[in-house]
Formats: sequence, C-alpha cells, structure tokens
Amino acid sequence: MHKGLLFVVSGPSGAGKGTICKSLTERSNIDLSVSMTTRQPRPGEIDGVSYYFVPKEGFLENLENDGFLEHACVFGNYYGTPKAPVLESLEEGRDVVLEIDIQGAMQIRQSYPKAIFIFILPPSMAELRKRITRRGSETEAAINERMGKALKEVSYIDKYDYCVVNGELKEAVDRVIAIVKAEHSRVAEDVYDLIEKYKKEEL
Ligand code: 5GP
Repeated sequence: MHKGLLFVVSGPSGAGKGTICKSLTERSNIDLSVSMTTRQPRPGEIDGVSYYFVPKEGFLENLENDGFLEHACVFGNYYGTPKAPVLESLEEGRDVVLEIDIQGAMQIRQSYPKAIFIFILPPSMAELRKRITRRGSETEAAINERMGKALKEVSYIDKYDYCVVNGELKEAVDRVIAIVKAEHSRVAEDVYDLIEKYKKEEL
C-alpha cells in the first residue's frame, strides 16, 4: 500500500484558504484535517467540523501527550493539528490537506519534509481587507492587525512549493487540484512496480 500525500495550505488570514480547502475536499478524495483550537466558535461554525473547540487546559493536555503534528499560537489563541487522524489517513493511502498558519507549516517542513506546501495569495491587499471586513467577526483593530501580519507572511513564500492567487474561487481550486494531480504524477517508487509488471507481459 502506498502512503497518501500530505498537502499544507497556508496564506494570510482572509486569502480564502478555508473556502479553497473545503471546495477541494468536495471535488476530490482528499481528507481535510480538523484542527483543535482554544478560540471561540464564530457564528455557524460547528464543533468537530470547523474545529475541535477546546478550553486552554484541554489543548495543553493534548500538547503534553504529544498529540499534535504541529501547533502554534495565532492572534492570541492556540491552534494545533491532531496527529493520529492525519497519520492514519496517510498510512491508509489517502491524501490529507492541512490548512494551517506559516509557523505550523515550518514545523511540518522539519518533521515531514515530503509534504507539499501551497501558499494562497489574495489578488490585492484591498481585496484582502474587503474579505476580512465582510466576515464581520473582527474589530477594526483586529482587521488592521491581520493586514499587517499578511504583509509579513507573504515574505515566507519562498519556503513553499506552489502559490495560487485566489481571485476567482473555481479557478483557484482548479489550480490546487492540478497541483495534487501533478504531485501524483511524479516519478516515484510505485512507477517501478508498474515497469516490473510490463516486463512480465508478453511483448
Ligand atoms: P481562524 O481563527 O481565522 O480560523 O484561523 C486563524 C489562523 O490559524 C489561520 O491562518 C489558520 O490557517 C490558522 N490555523 C488553523 N488551524 C491551525 C492549526 O491547526 N495549526 C496552525 N499552526 N494554524 C492553524
């Protein structure tokens, strides 16, 4: 059995990573990892689907038990990727996508260098501000903080393998799906099994 591929999607808050990842799972067979967080749920978010919403003590207990693949503190809240479900999916040959911030992505680069890193960019900073504002969940000060952080974050782009500008959602998801297909077309171990099979065929 071949292992699945691990995709890491990051980018500034409001660039549309969440929407792209959701659409990716609807249009392909990839498993989306559900993170654990200490942040309060936003209206419409469902525990166990959007995130596992836990109190700080619960998060720290999981951290102590080595339960995270990576974790970070973002905008004053803890976020982490539960380890067991991701490793299980990969072992079973299923692809997994993590939608995480850059600090977390850099930890995955260290611990799982085979992962594929995709950076989502907004078409412009003005559009980014519009999208964060439209969400309606942030104060003016929080929006300004996210905008400032966004500019710093894009300087990490060279640590990523691919970048996708999210102007039009369908086009952006098409591109991410193309990346997944391209990564599955790499010359890797399983192609040698196929070639061995050719050799056994009658010519
Ligand atoms: P939000 O609070 O807007 O849902 O997420 C804030 C930031 O945390 C986003 O950049 C999001 O990608 C990131 N994030 C969500 N889950 C995780 C996680 O498990 N690990 C890390 N490192 N970042 C995460």
